[in-house]
Amino acid sequence: MKTAEIKKIQMVDLRSQYEKIKPEIDAAMQEVIDQSAFINGSQVRHFAEELREYLDCKHLVTCGNGTDGLQIAMMALGFKPGDEVIVPAFTYIAAVEALALLGLKPVFVDVDPDTFQIDATQIEEKISSKTVCILPVHLYGQCADMETIMKLAKKHQLSVLEDAAQSIGAEYVFDDGKRMQSGTIGDIGVTSFFPSKNLGCFGDGGAMMTNNPDLAERIRMIATHGQKRKYIHDAIGVNSRLDTLQASVLRIKLKYLNGYIDARNQVAANYDAAFKNHPHLQIPVRMSQSSHVFHQYTLRLKEVERESFSKYLAEKGVPTMVYYPMPVHLQEAYKFLGYKKGDFPIAEALCQEVISLPMHTEIEDDQQAYIIKSINSFFE
Ligand SMILES: *Cc1c(COP(=O)(O)O)cnc(C)c1O
Repeated sequence: MKTAEIKKIQMVDLRSQYEKIKPEIDAAMQEVIDQSAFINGSQVRHFAEELREYLDCKHLVTCGNGTDGLQIAMMALGFKPGDEVIVPAFTYIAAVEALALLGLKPVFVDVDPDTFQIDATQIEEKISSKTVCILPVHLYGQCADMETIMKLAKKHQLSVLEDAAQSIGAEYVFDDGKRMQSGTIGDIGVTSFFPSKNLGCFGDGGAMMTNNPDLAERIRMIATHGQKRKYIHDAIGVNSRLDTLQASVLRIKLKYLNGYIDARNQVAANYDAAFKNHPHLQIPVRMSQSSHVFHQYTLRLKEVERESFSKYLAEKGVPTMVYYPMPVHLQEAYKFLGYKKGDFPIAEALCQEVISLPMHTEIEDDQQAYIIKSINSFFE
């Protein structure tokens, strides 16, 4: 099969997804333009309520992007400079960056070699008298070990702030049978509507979830220049808003979110079937306590030179990506924290060995067959 016969393969195909729902999206955006309520239009309120209902939490406040949401959440939780927050060593930078900006101290914990989530068995030894919070990142679309994390938080009276930017719609099942959506389990959860996220808009956007009314009020105030009443400022805040055009797009895409999650799971199941038991490819390990929404489908390479693997695939028209090539503790900007190479061996190994395959809601059967065939041919 030649690539010319199939549609160009992309890591994420936002255009094809849009084309399927174009009339609805166009009408919704046109309505906002006609109303010209670009900031705080009614669609923002409606979307917040609809997503709150979908996630089954008590309060949801929208904001400008996920990174803002993490910072606002940390401000709302009342952390003071020097306070320590436990974070995974293998993650996207956003949460660590927000901590550093607020003068808080990120304390890294290595990740589980199978699930790539923060290794909850290593958290307790990192808790000190200065620890105020555990911040799990639900990486790639599966939940961290929230059972253990919530128990530790209760025992040591710590807050829990969830980074659910990649996991919207993932459900966690506790030992007692209770089911909760990722991002609604801890004191505050944060998600992102960056275009390539599972629920993405046409620009930047984010939201913060909580079941605590006092925290909800603080979050809302901080995201609005620290004011409850216009021009009366009770706290130092920021300006972070989801704009109305983005909310209008998100209201439509939310209706399709379950379908999108199913589509991603179908793609993942096909990859799983193709590569399980492969001597050089470790397929994603599913946790029994969490559903997976496959923001990324990430393989761990075993004795394969990643560079030549990705180059080979690129030449065949199959894009791949590495999330993430360098652990946070070895980044130039975070040298001041005093970590060194070897401190988090799993995170460091994963940065060398992970590779993500094309994953989106519009992958066609022939495209996926071609991706699988191309990968297999590398090993022939
Ligand atoms: C995308 C992402 C963020 C940040 O979201 P933005 O909306 O781009 O600021 C935070 N954490 C994780 C894990 C992410 O994947």
